[in-house]
Amino acid sequence: MSKGTINVSVENIFPLIKKFLYSDHEIFLRELISNATDATVKLKYLTNIGEAKVDYGNPMIEIKIDKENKKLHIIDQGIGMTKDEIEKYINEIAFSGAEEFLEKYKDESGDDKGIIGHFGLGFYSAFMVADKVEIISKSFKEEPAVHWECDGSPEYSTKKSKKTTRGTEIVLHIAEDSLEFLEDARINELLVKYNKFMPIPIKFGTKEVNDPDHTPKTTKDKDGKETTEPQKMITVDNLINNPTPAWTKQPAELKAEDYKSFYRELYPMQFEEPLFNIHLNVDYPFNLTGILYFPKMTNDLNMQKDKIQLYQNQVFVTDNVEGIVPEFLTMLRGVIDSPDIPLNVSRSYLQADGAVKKISSYITRKVADKLKSLFKSDRADFEKKWNDIKIVIEYGMLSEEKFFEKAQAFALIPNRR
Ligand code: ADP
Repeated sequence: MSKGTINVSVENIFPLIKKFLYSDHEIFLRELISNATDATVKLKYLTNIGEAKVDYGNPMIEIKIDKENKKLHIIDQGIGMTKDEIEKYINEIAFSGAEEFLEKYKDESGDDKGIIGHFGLGFYSAFMVADKVEIISKSFKEEPAVHWECDGSPEYSTKKSKKTTRGTEIVLHIAEDSLEFLEDARINELLVKYNKFMPIPIKFGTKEVNDPDHTPKTTKDKDGKETTEPQKMITVDNLINNPTPAWTKQPAELKAEDYKSFYRELYPMQFEEPLFNIHLNVDYPFNLTGILYFPKMTNDLNMQKDKIQLYQNQVFVTDNVEGIVPEFLTMLRGVIDSPDIPLNVSRSYLQADGAVKKISSYITRKVADKLKSLFKSDRADFEKKWNDIKIVIEYGMLSEEKFFEKAQAFALIPNRR
């Protein structure tokens, strides 16, 4: 066993981490699952290029609650880390990253916190909810497994571990003030909120389903009365996510029904179908994919709850897209995914950011183009939809000059009707 001290310049960052972002403690889980995902995606890449000579298999990420011992486990089958790598990535790089992050943002207050803190704290965000953290890891390289432990002071210890399977297990000893994170329902809620569309399958417990290979037999008795035997149930992994959501596919691969079913996946409580959708797909001068939907304007339209969701590489970031999407389009629904939207910045900075301005005008243009093509291809149908879409269009014409110009091609202004 060896001991060491994480190189700290501020006396101790752990109390700071704990205090940081009171309301956002829950993001620790997203951060750890993002790391597990990265580690798995890296392994896939290394096996593809022949750098890692191991069988990639069908890796998944598993989340386990051990309520009795107050522990939460996050287990992956990714590249893993050797002792030296833990030393380098966890004790040095990640730590100074977390330190720098806190230094920069600890004085931030007020509404501007909106996007700050959504990304950046990384591995050490575990200390927002845990008073001790263990890492048990076995690298894909031929090296012994390692067991790292840190109790929230700058001291840590490492020793050899008996782990034989590739990958990393993070064990959080949940602190007394964070016991909510040992509740199935709470963890499930977080997984659905942040990880529903992440690219590596995430398992959380098991569930009972009808056995698809078993068709219940129906028999008739002598009076002709039919009885059907019960369904056979089997236990399967409870998988949280859809690793290949519609927006990650090419428009040519998708049919109208696929867009509709993705809408239901996004907003399970919405029973109205969307009017139409716009598939966004750019790789220059910025990267952005997504699908926007025009909802039907009904009385129960849940504007507050079902909003456009912003993702970064399939990780949920926020459903407050103010500043990224022009205001008139915030009435739409759907998903935007972009690695190019800077997230560790305040909203006022975001609104002034060049890349974000380009994204906003790209979206406006795509929406206008779609409306124009709907108008041209089937004017009668467009007129039928007009009542539902006119609020957005008229608001857009009043607030965005560019949109006003484009809208001349399709807006049904009373004297032209
Ligand atoms: P970031 O993910 O932003 O680089 P983190 O603090 O979250 O920062 O993690 C620091 C580093 O530790 C990662 O870059 C990675 O090299 C390593 N690491 C963290 N979690 C894992 C994991 N589950 N498997 C392999 N390596 C990991």
